Amino acid sequence: MPVTYDVIVVGLGAMGSATAYQLARRGVHVLGLDRFTPPHAFGSSHGETRIIREAYFEHPVYVPMVQRAYELWRDLEKESGTTLLRETGGVMIGRPDSDLVKGARHSAELHGLRYEMLTAGQVRERFPALHPESDMVAVWEPRAGVLFVDACIIAHLGQAQRYGAELRYEEPMLRWEPERDGIRVLTAQGEYRAQQLIITAGAWLSVFFPDLPLRVERQVLFWFDHASDSEMFTADRCPVHLWQFDGRRFFYGFPDLGNGVKVAFHHGGEITTVDAVRRRVEAGEMQETRAALRRFVPAADGTPLASTVCLYTNTPDEHFLIDRHPQHPQVLIASACSGHGFKFSPVVGELLADLAQDNQPRFDLSLFRKLAVG
Ligand SMILES: Cc1cc2nc3c(=O)[nH]c(=O)nc-3n(C[C@H](O)[C@H](O)[C@H](O)COP(=O)(O)OP(=O)(O)OC[C@H]3O[C@@H](n4cnc5c(N)ncnc54)[C@H](O)[C@@H]3O)c2cc1C
Repeated sequence: MPVTYDVIVVGLGAMGSATAYQLARRGVHVLGLDRFTPPHAFGSSHGETRIIREAYFEHPVYVPMVQRAYELWRDLEKESGTTLLRETGGVMIGRPDSDLVKGARHSAELHGLRYEMLTAGQVRERFPALHPESDMVAVWEPRAGVLFVDACIIAHLGQAQRYGAELRYEEPMLRWEPERDGIRVLTAQGEYRAQQLIITAGAWLSVFFPDLPLRVERQVLFWFDHASDSEMFTADRCPVHLWQFDGRRFFYGFPDLGNGVKVAFHHGGEITTVDAVRRRVEAGEMQETRAALRRFVPAADGTPLASTVCLYTNTPDEHFLIDRHPQHPQVLIASACSGHGFKFSPVVGELLADLAQDNQPRFDLSLFRKLAVG
């Protein structure tokens, strides 16, 4: 007889680990499955750090969600006794009419957030590592910062287990089948039943739902040693920084948190699949990143230290997908990526747990409900 649970969570990366935790702490009998042993470097949640920011340029609807995320990350820090988040402040830099600057300012105004507008000269003066061009301006916000990704996932998984979740690693779901009053999940090791299934499989979602309009994008992260004056890149002198330039090109970087200066482009990567993605970084791929560094963060154009390939899973409008399966309401699906989901993972976990328990979700999900009711 298959073992029976209340909820099975498939995929225990950023979103699934948070979901398993949220459910288990409410006393729900949870099974979590992952094809690898998370945290791992094959999906979307590796590479040391992620940015968290409050003056959300993508849409003001995210501001209350990120505020809730701060609360939940801090609660998880207390519960797990681990440092997960470091506030460094953040600057969003671009032309005054760029989506980044305009959007961040709009969200800050609408939600009464603390922020300052800085000229290019003020940015250079305050943060000497950053060299905006003279027609650029910046939105500075004090609460932006850095999340330590492995620690975040380990904390969610560890606490989920403490509350009784059963987590099985190296055991991919092979397929799922709806049943009259629940769901059946098959893996190479066995067969499990539950009332509900939550699929948070990241870039692998399309394997189960090939018709979803999701596009996997290859993104390369680089770490560089700074060429000069290492003091410029300490977290108290170098906030997290996002740049929009040459129209719709986006670039971002972190202070040196011990392993060099991490920088990357946001979007603009190859469209691929989890099976076909080129995991190797070729020597020539660094040139474009170096060019952006020379232009905007010249002191970080030092010796290359490391690089890694990571995957974005993009929806067409780059807002998340959090919804019920249109034909099988006992199945919930979440793809909270599009290159900006990590910071929200505790909130996505909370929302999915609420949906699974038929509670009114804390936030309006209309922007994220993308599955047509069939
Ligand atoms: C380079 C890069 C930079 C980013 N920067 C930021 C940032 O600064 N700030 C921010 O907020 N967000 C950022 N993001 C986005 C954020 O990292 C993602 O939104 C988030 O990590 C997605 O989490 P996930 O749980 O959907 O996917 P993942 O963490 O990849 O988890 C999916 C899990 O599903 C498992 N799985 C797959 N198939 C199966 C199966 N059949 N059975 C069982 N398990 C399975 C996988 O093994 C994996 O563990 C960035 C993303 C990348 C790639």
